[in-house]
Amino acid sequence: MCNQNHCLSKQLARQPQFTTFVLEDLSGIRAKRRGKKLNKWLSSWTFRQFEMFLGYKAEALGKRVVFVDPRYTSQKCNRCGHTAKANRCKARFHCKACGFKAHADTNAAMNIRDNYILSCAFGSQGQGTVNCPYVSEIASRDKPLGLR
Ligand SMILES: [Zn+2]
Repeated sequence: MCNQNHCLSKQLARQPQFTTFVLEDLSGIRAKRRGKKLNKWLSSWTFRQFEMFLGYKAEALGKRVVFVDPRYTSQKCNRCGHTAKANRCKARFHCKACGFKAHADTNAAMNIRDNYILSCAFGSQGQGTVNCPYVSEIASRDKPLGLR
């Protein structure tokens, strides 16, 4: 029998509509803005194991797992770009500038996806900035990488 992480990562890696998995690179931050519970989960071995499993299962299928800069993903409005702490209240995202409403995780996930797309569009120049986040692959997470 496989454990939960094996099953989940396998299922996710096999989804035919996904060829690239974009995750937040949380290795370098101590995020006060996240709840204690979430921080604990993200730094737990279970979560690291999940990332690792997803990484090698995806690679075995010729897919990629990439990591993007996690800054501001939960504060930034995916519709208008307005970034403020006040946009987020627990699980709810409500943009103070344009009125966009979404589940906070959905808004953050769209920002993570867009960060990756942006970083592809801009290439390796200027990586590491908010407008053009760096992307690193699972095997070399410590150093930024020029995109193919
Ligand atoms: Zn907005």
